[in-house]
Amino acid sequence: MTEERLKPIEHLLTILESSNRKYDLEKIKKAFLYADDMHIGQMRQSGEPYISHPVAVAESVAALGLDTDSICAAFLHDTVEDCPDKTDLETVRKIFGNDVALFVDGVTKIKSINVEDKEETHIENIRKMLLAMSKDIRVIFIKLCDRMHNMHTLYVKKDAKRRAIALETMHVYAPLAHRLGMQRVKQDLEDYALKYLDPIGYDEVKKNIDEKYGKNIYFIENVKNFVSAKLEAANINFSLKGRVKTVYSVYRKMFNQNKSFDEIYDFYALRIIVDTELECYTVLGLIHEMYKSVPGRFKDYISTPKPNMYQSLHTTVIGKDGIPFEVQIRTREMHHVAEYGIAAHWKYKSGEKSSVDIDKKLDWISKLIDTENDTKDPDEFLHAFKIDIFHDETFVFTPKGDVVALPLGATLIDFAYSIHTGVGNKMIGAKINGRIAPIDSEPKNGDIVEVITSNSSKGPSRDWLNIVKTSEARNKIRQWFKKERRQENIIVGKNEIEKIFNRKHMHCTDAEMEEIATTVAKRIGMIDASDLYNAIGYGGISYTKVESKLTDEYERNYKKEPVKEPVIEPTPQNSAAVKKRKSSGGVIVDGEEGCAVKFAKCCNPLPGEEIIGFITKGYGISIHKADCPNISNAYANEENVNRFVKAEWNMPSGSSSSTYESAIKIYVTNRISILADISVALADMRVDIVSINTQNLDGASIINMVISCKDISHFNSIVSRVRNIKDVIRVTRVLGAST
Ligand code: MN
Repeated sequence: MTEERLKPIEHLLTILESSNRKYDLEKIKKAFLYADDMHIGQMRQSGEPYISHPVAVAESVAALGLDTDSICAAFLHDTVEDCPDKTDLETVRKIFGNDVALFVDGVTKIKSINVEDKEETHIENIRKMLLAMSKDIRVIFIKLCDRMHNMHTLYVKKDAKRRAIALETMHVYAPLAHRLGMQRVKQDLEDYALKYLDPIGYDEVKKNIDEKYGKNIYFIENVKNFVSAKLEAANINFSLKGRVKTVYSVYRKMFNQNKSFDEIYDFYALRIIVDTELECYTVLGLIHEMYKSVPGRFKDYISTPKPNMYQSLHTTVIGKDGIPFEVQIRTREMHHVAEYGIAAHWKYKSGEKSSVDIDKKLDWISKLIDTENDTKDPDEFLHAFKIDIFHDETFVFTPKGDVVALPLGATLIDFAYSIHTGVGNKMIGAKINGRIAPIDSEPKNGDIVEVITSNSSKGPSRDWLNIVKTSEARNKIRQWFKKERRQENIIVGKNEIEKIFNRKHMHCTDAEMEEIATTVAKRIGMIDASDLYNAIGYGGISYTKVESKLTDEYERNYKKEPVKEPVIEPTPQNSAAVKKRKSSGGVIVDGEEGCAVKFAKCCNPLPGEEIIGFITKGYGISIHKADCPNISNAYANEENVNRFVKAEWNMPSGSSSSTYESAIKIYVTNRISILADISVALADMRVDIVSINTQNLDGASIINMVISCKDISHFNSIVSRVRNIKDVIRVTRVLGAST
């Protein structure tokens, strides 16, 4: 009974048995029988039983010299997808092991991709993605054999479907086969694809070939024998290979180079590889003795190599019955360079662009395939193929099925910007395979990524600059800030410069700082200080680049002798918080929420204190305490009357979650544990200490501290708590520089 059932693979089994390789024939039979059970009752569109397809694929896979598991997977490759009620991947794994399951899964996952109307870069990405998704190169080998049989039986499909499959074969699978060194598979795929893409052109070329050469099927064999005898007689060590051009390669030459059929001189070609350069010329002489050469067809690429370093002698001669054929003569070394050494070589031959990297990566694979020999254990040989080919790139689908290549670790934000700047700028969320995902997630190979955009999006966030991995996305985000958020950039940039001033203890007024910034801006080719703030704000220049220029300018003009700080007891009226970093939220200006504002450094209002807005010339609205002396001074000037705007805190005192930094000085008697007492008190009140340093005076110390607090009443309670600590003499608020 089983013998009877094994009939469809009788031929395959005979071939495997007679090879000197170690195949697990029992496992192969088992895989066939299992597939036969699964597909029973199913038919191909051609009317044949379905099992004929996996059998054909398995035969091709075996012919490529692949191992037992690959042949088993070839039998099983359609079972999981086509027989979901009978089997699944887990069952296949249990019966046939991990590798077979991996291959079946891989072949199933490589779905049909529509390459129509896609640009070359997209197609290149599709090819790369197929490789990256495969995890094991055997998946691609099986897939190519699957495609080959589908091409052979394509005639049963409808016209439009045929065209789509043929196009995909021509653009994706044939180039892959070429890169993997599978010349015969490549040529087979190309010829069949051409047949459906340009049936008239195909028939015309085929007819020409049959008429002119069809009767000469042994022509190249005869030439080989004849040339071999001659070279042996001349005592030359050589190897020789004959080649016949395929329909597609003749077709391509005719249409790409606009040649007539009679101008194709290299339909037949002979490649002779010898040991030395001198022998190349000797062989050339012998060939010309044997055959008449075609004028104008001799090329000496040995003395004048091609730009890609290709070296060889080419000549075309006329054989028996007037049939021309090309002869290429080169040394082993030249041959090596031609075949593997330069990735550009076969790119040049196949007329491709932008694939240097993939070429390099796959180069060694074609080497392996070429050097493979029958004595090797196929399993051992194929073990070397288990590599991660594109470990530095991730390939994802757009919802339309385009493939996008991202550097490894790129996020959904990078993806959005790689689609289009507008998509990135309007991004409000994203989905991976239909599910909402955080926008900083990293998609995996084969994921379908969809960006959710909204026209009411307020644009990218500055945080994104720290999340994105590609410089493309980073630059686009910066450009957006540069263009859309000048006011905000100016505030952010000015803050950065203030930080530099504070850190370097450069004390000056706002007006002085602005003057310094203006001078520096002019020195680097900008118009005024706000340009400089803006550029720092959107990240166009890094503040570290202008730091030394600012310092120089400050020291030249404003460096003052250090003065003693006035000691002022804090009261709600004169206390001043410094270094507030909050730039917008929390203040309502003239009835408007969310206005970009800056808190004036002279009086540093805290939530809970009365405030007023002042429209500055260079950098938006600054918020002062209502009783700030600068405000009363400004009132005195009539010019300024229209520059005041009503401002109020947008929160009940104490309710804000934001904190404001305030600097205080604590005068203490010299006691070692005092710092600890103060820290405990502050920790108890959940106050963060931003910075701390101590200054020793005679018999006492000053502790300079920057703390963060919520508002004025919080600040006051902190001060009174600290003041009550034993050995604290006085607590004062440090005022910012004031005008
Ligand atoms: Mn199939």
